[in-house]
Order: sequence, then C-alpha cells, then structure tokens
Amino acid sequence: MPTQSTVESSRQPVRHLIVILGDQLDRHSPAFHGFDSERDIVWMAEVIEESTKVPVSLPRIAIFLACMRHFRDALRSEQIHVDYRELALGEPALADALAGALQRHRPAKVVMVEPGEWSVRESLRAVVARHSVLLDERADDHFLCSHREFADHARGRKQLRMEFFYREMRRKHQILLDRDGKPEGGDWNYDAENRGSFGKAGPSDIPSPARFAPNPLTAQVIAEVQRRFPQHVGKLDRFDWPVTRDQALIALQDFIDHRLSHFGEYQDAMWTREPWLYHSRISAALNLKLLNPLEVIRAAELAYRSGRAPLAATEGFIRQILGWREYVRGVYWHLMPGYLDRNAMRASEPLPGLFWTAETDMQCLADSIGQTLELGYAHHIQRLMVTGLFCLLLGVDPKEVHAWYLSVYVDAVEWVELPNTLGMSQYADGGVMASKPYIASGRYIDKMSNYCCQCRYKPAEATGKAACPFTTLYWDFLIRHELELSSNPRMVMQVRNLARLTEARRAEIISAARELRQSLRVQVNGSNLST
Ligand code: FAD
Ligand code: SF4
Repeated sequence: MPTQSTVESSRQPVRHLIVILGDQLDRHSPAFHGFDSERDIVWMAEVIEESTKVPVSLPRIAIFLACMRHFRDALRSEQIHVDYRELALGEPALADALAGALQRHRPAKVVMVEPGEWSVRESLRAVVARHSVLLDERADDHFLCSHREFADHARGRKQLRMEFFYREMRRKHQILLDRDGKPEGGDWNYDAENRGSFGKAGPSDIPSPARFAPNPLTAQVIAEVQRRFPQHVGKLDRFDWPVTRDQALIALQDFIDHRLSHFGEYQDAMWTREPWLYHSRISAALNLKLLNPLEVIRAAELAYRSGRAPLAATEGFIRQILGWREYVRGVYWHLMPGYLDRNAMRASEPLPGLFWTAETDMQCLADSIGQTLELGYAHHIQRLMVTGLFCLLLGVDPKEVHAWYLSVYVDAVEWVELPNTLGMSQYADGGVMASKPYIASGRYIDKMSNYCCQCRYKPAEATGKAACPFTTLYWDFLIRHELELSSNPRMVMQVRNLARLTEARRAEIISAARELRQSLRVQVNGSNLST
C-alpha cells in the first residue's frame, strides 16, 4: 500500500481542497459529491481555539477529536489523501490553519458544506476570499429543512412556534401519517401522555445503554486531552460515547430496541445518579453527522409500525428530532448574528462558581452539574428545568449561560445550543422560542424527581433557613418582572398568585433573594474557575 508521502509526491496539482469540519463527519456529505481521489485532497484540522475560546470540558474535546481521527482513518483506508492537522501541529485558529493549507496546496477551488456556526462560516469565507481562491459552498443536506424553507415558514408570522413547523415537517416528509394523510392516531402531539414521574419507588430495570469502551485510538486521544488541558473541567474515566458511524448505528438500534417504548412517558423525569433513564444518547452522534436524522426518525417509526413501541413514545421522540432539532436550527440561522446579543430580561448576574464544581447543598444542581462534568451529559429537563431554570431565576447574564452550555456537553454546537439556552431556557429572545418564560418553583423539581427528599432545603418554602433557593428566586422573579409578565396571557395564573402576596411578604422574599445572590457572588469570586 502506498504511504501518505509517496501518494503526495506523485500527485498532480490539487483541483479541489475539500474542507471537512469536526461536526461534518459524513462520508455521504455533499462535500464529497464529484470527489476525484487523483486530483482532490481532504483537509481537516484540530485547532486549539475550538477548545479554549470557551473553556471546553474534557469529554467534549475528547469526543470531537476521537470522532475526527476515526473519520480521517476511515478516509485514508479508502486511499483518500487527507491533510490532517493534529492539535500538536496545528495553528491556534481554524481560519489560520486553512490559510496555511491554501498556501501549501494551492488548490483551484475550495469545496465545503456550509459550516453550522455563523462565525466559522464567516471566517472561512473571508480567508478563502483573501487567497483569491474559488469557493464552492454547498448546502448542508443533513438537515430536513433548508434555510429557504424555514424562511418561507417564518415569513409573515408574528410569532414562530415549533408546533406548526413540526406539522409541516411531518407532512413534507410523510412521517407518522395515516392513509388519508392525517396524523397517525388522530393527534399531532401526544405530549399530555409524556409527563410521567417515577413516584417514590423510583425507576427499576432500566436497560443500560450500549457503551463503547475506548479502542487504542480513542485511548490515545483521551491521554492527549488529559495532558494538554489539565486546567479544564470534566472527567474522562467513564468516556464511552460512540465515535464512529458503526458504533452510532449500534447505539441507535440499542435505544430503539430497549428504551424507546418508555421514552415519552419518562421524558421529563429525573432521578439521582440515573443520568440516562430512557433517553437515547445520540445527540452528539447526530450533531457530528455520524447519524442522519431521517434514518433515526424512520427507525423509530418502523418500531411503532411493527408493534415494538407505542405511538405516544414514538411521536414524542420523533418530535424532538423532526420538530425541535430542525426548528432551533431554523431559528438560529434566521436570527444570527444579532441573536447572540439578545437579553430581553436584562439579566446581568455572574454565573455562580458552583456550575464549574457541582459543590452545593442544592441536590438538584449537585446531581445535574455533577453528571454533566463527569459525563458531558444531562438530559433535556435537567438542562431546562434545573440548571437553566436556576440561571433564569437568578438573572444570570445570558452570554455567560451560553458559554457554559457550549463548553460542557458532548453534543454542544452553537446552532442547537444557542436557541435552546438563550431562547428556550433564558427567555432572552423575548419570546421567539417560547411563548412564556419556563419558570417554576422547587415544587416542580420535587414532583419530577427524588432530588428534594435528599436535600436540606424544602421546596415549598420561600423564606427562612430551609427555604429552597429555587422557590425564593421564583417569587422574586415574578416580583421583578411583574409588569411585563402581566401582559402575557400564558402567565395569568402565576401573576394572579403573586397578587395574593402582601407587601410585607414581598419584602421578605426580595430580601431573601438579595442575600442569596450575594452569597452566590461570593462563591464566584472565591472559586478556582477553569478559565
Ligand atoms: P433524547 O432525549 O433522547 O432526544 C432525542 C434527540 O432529540 C436528541 O438526541 C436531540 O438530537 C433531539 N433533541 C431533543 N430535544 C431537543 C431540543 N430542545 N433541541 C434540539 N434537539 C433536540 N441539544 C444538543 O444537541 N446540543 C446542545 O448543545 C444542546 N444544548 C441545550 C441547552 C439547553 C439549555 C437545553 C434546554 C437543551 C439543549 N439541547 C441541546 C437539547 C437537548 O437537551 C439535548 O439534545 C438532549 O438532552 C440530548 O440527549 P439525548 O440524545 O439523550 O436526547
Ligand atoms: Fe433543588 Fe430546592 Fe429540591 Fe433542594 S429543595 S433539590 S434546591 S428544588
């Protein structure tokens, strides 16, 4: 077999430099359409900047590098010439690395699929233009809704809502429809059946998800990441994520066969030291493009049609991918770059230091953040109704919240993380993603989990020694935003409950919230942040 250097020396001038980014690991991507291994080169780069512009956690750095290096090796095994810059060799920034590749190879044209992140797209376009090279930027066909289709959907609407978008997507892709083209079972959405909690007994016999022990290549990445980023948060001793397409397909099938049927029912439930429950664990594989969303959706629909999963669970799961995932991408591209600067609730508190250490008496935060740092994973309700809710109620600057979410999860990429964080969880977009702020007191967490019974705080109490900080901050949030919330029809009940509080009670709550904020600020200043 010829080595990489003999291939290089015998090559003709480079026709196309095919740019493959860390979240574009799809062999069938449009970037490879028309690929000629005699004349074209694939270029990939690991860059330090991607890990340090926010202090990225070790699991997230490791999953990207492990997936990229496996993809590189798979291409090379097809005799494709890959110019791959490992961290050790690489330039600090992606645009600089590409500039170096353009000088080295002098291609006639750069071919790339549109990057998923706005600033990456802009910087790569600029560097190619600066070198006066032709750029063939191709639409990303991984997604089921194009930018144009989303713009058509959004045109003329005062409000964007996922539910209407989702129905259009179901019709367009013929998913879960009956013979008359109506929604299977008569309803578009079975969410009302998907709000179960485990009760006092807790979950039992949840099948463990498929796990992938690190092979030598992944083990090498883990060792390098540990050596290279000693200051960064996170652990790698339990790293077992799928890092190749074959592994991702096994993970998908394992979910469909063993956990999909209870997915919907327990979608919102939480339980101490049970990070996975009935969730699929496929978000990173989807976002890095090891899996295609349509194949995931079809696999779930097939399970329903063959009687292996109930309709409510299947619809609930499909809605996350065909609905939410496509919708947040549409919102991101529709509203960037200005979206990043939105702060409708005028929030300015610093992120508490406990987000980087998980050291707190609040059991819900200790468990959700603890597993996040250890595994790079928390499920949707932990992200939305524990960590996200705490930041929203406390009034943390949305940019700080965004930076945290982008740095700690293995599936974090800006197009999906930003609308979920800034829009859905922090209401910083003033209602584009959600029709009202997702606020709740500690009672909600008590209903959906076993966290509170192990906690020194009491979810029903807003003031006093045992007051639950969520409950204190919930009332304080209503008081601080009473005027603007009272014009939102979906907040009527909560604002009405607030109106029942006496002035003296309000003053007690405001004072308790002020003290709480003060103590959390002290923690930030005193903690040893990884940045
Ligand atoms: P499951 O619960 O099994 O769901 C199946 C799939 O549906 C997921 O793999 C994912 O691809 C998709 N999905 C579910 N909910 C959403 C959603 N709200 N938006 C988009 N896709 C969704 N998801 C990311 O992929 N990357 C992120 O960086 C990210 N950041 C988030 C930040 C916040 C504040 C919140 C509230 C949610 C965020 N999500 C993000 C969405 C969701 O929490 C994760 O997709 C999910 O927890 C991943 O775990 P899973 O694969 O086991 O998902
Ligand atoms: Fe969290 Fe409050 Fe429950 Fe403690 S009592 S676990 S702080 S919601």
